[in-house]
Amino acid sequence: MDIAIMGAGLSGLACAITLEKNGITPKIFEKRSKVGDRFINGEVFLDIFSRPVHDCIADLADAHGIFLKPTATIQKMKLISKNEQATIKGHLGFISIRGREQDSLESQLAQQSKATIHYNSKKTYEQLLSEYTHVVMATGDGDYAKKTNNFREDLSVSIKGATIEGTFDPISVMAWIDYDLAPYGYCFLIPFSETEANISLAIPNIPKNVDVKISQLWELFYAKIRSQLKQEFPITDEFQISQYPIGICLSPRIGNTFYVGNCFGTLMPFMGFGQYASILSGVFAAYDLCGLGKYEELMKPIRQSYDDSLILRRTMEQLSNDGLDRAIRALQGYWGEKLFQTKTINPLKVASYLLRPYIKLQKWRT
Ligand SMILES: Cc1cc2nc3c(=O)[nH]c(=O)nc-3n(C[C@H](O)[C@H](O)[C@H](O)COP(=O)(O)OP(=O)(O)OC[C@H]3O[C@@H](n4cnc5c(N)ncnc54)[C@H](O)[C@@H]3O)c2cc1C
Repeated sequence: MDIAIMGAGLSGLACAITLEKNGITPKIFEKRSKVGDRFINGEVFLDIFSRPVHDCIADLADAHGIFLKPTATIQKMKLISKNEQATIKGHLGFISIRGREQDSLESQLAQQSKATIHYNSKKTYEQLLSEYTHVVMATGDGDYAKKTNNFREDLSVSIKGATIEGTFDPISVMAWIDYDLAPYGYCFLIPFSETEANISLAIPNIPKNVDVKISQLWELFYAKIRSQLKQEFPITDEFQISQYPIGICLSPRIGNTFYVGNCFGTLMPFMGFGQYASILSGVFAAYDLCGLGKYEELMKPIRQSYDDSLILRRTMEQLSNDGLDRAIRALQGYWGEKLFQTKTINPLKVASYLLRPYIKLQKWRT
C-alpha cells in the first residue's frame, strides 16, 4: 500500500503518525516550505465543544497515541455581549499556538512523525492519485471536494486577526458576542503568553452582512479592547481571510481518496472550531487504511457535531443584541458554570435538538 498525504497540517500529520504506529510509512506533500509556515494564531480547544470527551488532549494521548502540549489550560472565560458579561471559571479547555512558532501544534505533530515531507509541493491530487494506491486529502479546505461535487458548502466567513503585545493572564480567554462589533459573528482575545495574544473578528458572509466592511468593524473592535482593557496593544502581525468556505463532504471516502480535516468538514459552523475534530479525522482515516475501522462509520459523530453546530449557527443568525444579552445574563453565575462543567450531557447537542423545529420554521417562512 502506497499512501500519499496532501497537506502537512493537523489532520495530515495525525494521519501520518497513526499510519506509522501501525507499520505503514506514508509520503507527505506540503505546498509550503515548512510545517506551520503561516501566520501565528492562538487557538482554543473548548471542552464544551468536544463532549462526551471531557479533556481532548488526554483523549488524543490515551485513546489515539497523539501527544500534544498546549500553551496553557483555560481556567477563565469572559463572554461579553453588548450590555452584559458572564465570567465562567473552572477547567474549560486549552490554548494552543498555531503557525510559525516553534511549539505550534503542527510542529509538535511533525516531530512525532518520521514520514518524509516533500515541501514546496506542486503535485496535484490527480498526479498523487496516479502515483499512489491511496490519497489522503488534508489541504485544510474543501476546494478539491467541491470540484468533484462531494462538498456541501453551508456558509462562508471572513476573518481578520492580529497578534498584539500587552500584559495578559495566560489562562484567561475573552469572547465578544456583540453584533455591533461583529454582526452575527464573534470576536476573541486568546493569549499565548503573558505578553502576547491573538485577537480576531469573524463574520459570516450572509445577505444581512452584505454592506458590512470588516476593516471598519476591526477599527471599532480594536478601539474597544484598548479602552476596555486599558492598554495600548501594539499590533506585531496581522492576517485576513476572505470568504472562507465552511461545509461538509457528502462522502468522507470516495474510492481510494480520504477527505480529512477541513477537507472533510471538521470546521464547525457555530464558532469556527475544528482542531480536535481535524486531528481525530486524520487518525480515523489511518485506522481505516490499517484495517482497524471504517472511516465513514468513525466519522459519524463528527458529522453529527457538524450538523448540530450548523443549527446553532442558523439560530445565531436569527438573534439580536437583546437576545444575546439575555443569553449572556443567563450564563452568569451558577448555571453558566454548570453548563460548561457538565459531564453527563452534551449541552450543544441538546440545544441543537431543541432548536431544530425553530430553524425549520424560519426556513419555511423565508
Ligand atoms: C483564523 C482561524 C482561527 C481558528 N481558531 C480555532 C480555534 O480557536 N479552535 C479550533 O478548534 N479551531 C480553530 N480554527 C480551525 C482550525 O484551525 C482548523 O479546523 C484546523 O487547523 C484544520 O486542520 P486541517 O488539517 O484540515 O488543515 P491545516 O491544519 O490548515 O493544514 C492544511 C495544510 O495543507 C497544506 N496545503 C494546502 N493546500 C495544499 C496543496 N495544494 N498541496 C499540499 N499542501 C497543501 C497547507 O499549507 C497546510 O499545511 C481556526 C481557523 C482559523 C482560520
